[in-house]
Amino acid sequence: MSNNQITVTSPLLPSLDDFIPMLKDIWDRKWLTNNGHYHQELEKALAEYLGVKYLSLFTNGTLPLITALQAMKITGEVITTPYSFVATTHSIWWNGLKPVFVDIDEETGNINPEKIEAAITPHTTAIMPVHVYGTPCNTKRIQQIADIYGLKVIYDAAHAFGVRVNGESILNAGDMSTLSFHATKVYNTIEGGALVCHDEATKRRIDYLKNFGFADETTVVAPGINSKMDEFRAAYGLLNLKQVDEAITKRKIVAERYRETLKDIPGIRMLHDIEGVHHNYAYFPIFIDENEYGLSRDALYEKLKEYNIYGRRYFYPLISTFSAYKGLDSANPSNLPIAHKLANQVLCLPMFATLDSENENRVIDIVQKFAHK
Ligand SMILES: *Cc1c(COP(=O)(O)O)cnc(C)c1O
Repeated sequence: MSNNQITVTSPLLPSLDDFIPMLKDIWDRKWLTNNGHYHQELEKALAEYLGVKYLSLFTNGTLPLITALQAMKITGEVITTPYSFVATTHSIWWNGLKPVFVDIDEETGNINPEKIEAAITPHTTAIMPVHVYGTPCNTKRIQQIADIYGLKVIYDAAHAFGVRVNGESILNAGDMSTLSFHATKVYNTIEGGALVCHDEATKRRIDYLKNFGFADETTVVAPGINSKMDEFRAAYGLLNLKQVDEAITKRKIVAERYRETLKDIPGIRMLHDIEGVHHNYAYFPIFIDENEYGLSRDALYEKLKEYNIYGRRYFYPLISTFSAYKGLDSANPSNLPIAHKLANQVLCLPMFATLDSENENRVIDIVQKFAHK
């Protein structure tokens, strides 16, 4: 049995032979960034692939979150989830706003809509949920609440590339959705991201904001940021887009193999496909009940490392426990019991398109080996 390292993910890379002619083309054009040829092509191709009307490319997945809050002039308090990557809450902080944490749903790990109303105050202006692991939030219920209280909804859809519900892109929910094209995600442009909105005027405003606020050569309409994607990554992104469907199909096979082989182990809970949802298999989290399984999550995490297998505890620690946020009233662990429970149970197993059955079996063998018999 080979003993090479297995990491939690491995990037989807386009063929170098296909990329080199594009590099030559960029050299010939001498147009490296600022809404260039490949940038325009990729925006069009992504909007079409994802089934959205208006999409703006960004240089990473954090700046679209920050920019979305700017574009809608969000003030005061923003309701969000502690069970996510830190960038979600950081984007609220970077806007000088107050994050208000709401507990999550145990089944999915997503914000629990039934807990949102109790967190609304006269200062609340927006909700920022996350489609954790690519599982769609209860967007209908969230929209109902937003409509009643007059709140904006910005989805952090960094995990939800290509996810559809009954054929409709999940990115069309809410007022805006953000994507990350970081190297570790289902679809990557090395670093990159996008902001999805639903009307032309809003897209125009977003495009000004990601380019210092410039509306034309001499007009600056707002204190914008620089978050432009360059031609190199846009070209790379066009190539990766051609193979992302195949990559998602392969991820599905990996997920099915895990589910089939781990389903009878006591104390291990997995996520399952939801009817009507086209999933992207971005992650493969398992939730470990220490008493039933026989080892704690952390003990299994360490055991896997001994065998050169590197899972990740997404999302542990919770965002609400970090120094910038732990003093907030809503960060009190008594307000977030389910989030704390999942953060202590979760382990994301290696999941990527090129994980072959031999290596996947190495992971499965270790998880089985330490289970109570
Ligand atoms: C990856 C990620 C981000 C940030 O994206 P970057 O491209 O790394 O800036 C934001 N939110 C979530 C939930 C993520 O997983």
